[in-house]
Amino acid sequence: MTKTETANLPETMAQIHRVAEAGADLVRVAVPRHEDVEALKTIVRESPIPIIADIHFNHTLAIKAIEAGAHCIRLNPGNIGGPEKVAEVVAVAKRHEVPIRVGVNSGSLPKHLRDMEFTDPVGALVSAAEETVALMESLDFGDFKVSMKSTSVPNTIASNRLLSQRIPYPLHLGVTEAGTKWTGSLKSAVGLGTLLADGIGDTVRISLSTFHAEEEVKVAWEILKALKLREKGPVLIACPTCGRLQFDMDSVVQEVEQRLTAYDDPIEVSVLGCAVNGIGEARHADFGITGAKDAGMIFSKGEPLKKVPTADLVDELFKEIDRYYASGKQVVRDEREAAEATQWLSENEDLSAMTPERLAQLEKDKTREEQDRLAAEAAGEGGGNDTKKPFADETSSPTAGRRFTRAG
Ligand code: SF4
Repeated sequence: MTKTETANLPETMAQIHRVAEAGADLVRVAVPRHEDVEALKTIVRESPIPIIADIHFNHTLAIKAIEAGAHCIRLNPGNIGGPEKVAEVVAVAKRHEVPIRVGVNSGSLPKHLRDMEFTDPVGALVSAAEETVALMESLDFGDFKVSMKSTSVPNTIASNRLLSQRIPYPLHLGVTEAGTKWTGSLKSAVGLGTLLADGIGDTVRISLSTFHAEEEVKVAWEILKALKLREKGPVLIACPTCGRLQFDMDSVVQEVEQRLTAYDDPIEVSVLGCAVNGIGEARHADFGITGAKDAGMIFSKGEPLKKVPTADLVDELFKEIDRYYASGKQVVRDEREAAEATQWLSENEDLSAMTPERLAQLEKDKTREEQDRLAAEAAGEGGGNDTKKPFADETSSPTAGRRFTRAG
């Protein structure tokens, strides 16, 4: 949603372009005054994405916003002046084939549900939403979606779960007044992420206390990308760093993240602080880097590409990424450089580290050994105690303190 005074056309249009560039599919603008409705005519004409007019209290403005060409209007029937006023708006929406987002906010429930808000906030929200739906149906209007917004994450989750079982209409999700960029993003990720992971929700809005509306869009995208519901732009994977780190990975990750914003393709890029675990954990990454004190390595899909000085890691990474696109999405491998990188990796990798891959291999080897032993026994080979080595012995896996013993 834009944060500008809507009637301020240059500022509003600039912000709309920024949210569209950030990946918004549609944008809402506040329409609290008649000059905003006037501006809406131009905004609708010039906007690269559909415009939702956000109306409170004044049904005349809602009607004028529809007539000004808004692609959708948002109103809360509870605060628009009664069912008759809602009916007037709906009649105009029908005529112009404009959908409506109807909804309820925990802070503006209808009067008769306000006491219930203290005893059963989820029930109050759902009852208000169901009353709204009943009103729309009584007006023979089905072109709407429903939102139920609360400042409480648990109430947002519980009320939407309940409502999604009771009505067949699309749901718009949001945690209202979520907070600053940091806390608001986390609250929204938990609330919306839980619902979206359940398959609930059709549109989303992140509400952050910032004048930069595009930040809300970026957060929404990260939630959708994390759940693999939508793809947009590269995915960055970065290790959390630890005491093995020998270079300034913090700034490297930030630079990689910033430079990746120039790419639209959903490639996966990994940054590993060291090669202690090899590069197996990042084998899914299209490209990655791992570093050490003076040198690091670029790799692709778990295979070394080249060794480079640590200071050049980021530039060389992006050279490889650009070469990949220039070659029609083919990884270009120089065998000499790849061999040098492989050598570097073997010198820097901690071969004793128990990576998931190595643990899996150990398990596999043990299972095969056991199967071979059983097969040999069944075939009558050996059969003596000499060949019946225990799977685990007291040295490697002591049983002291257990309720069983291995001996006898
Ligand atoms: S990749 Fe290396 S630096 Fe990063 S967390 Fe793992 S061990 Fe630590």
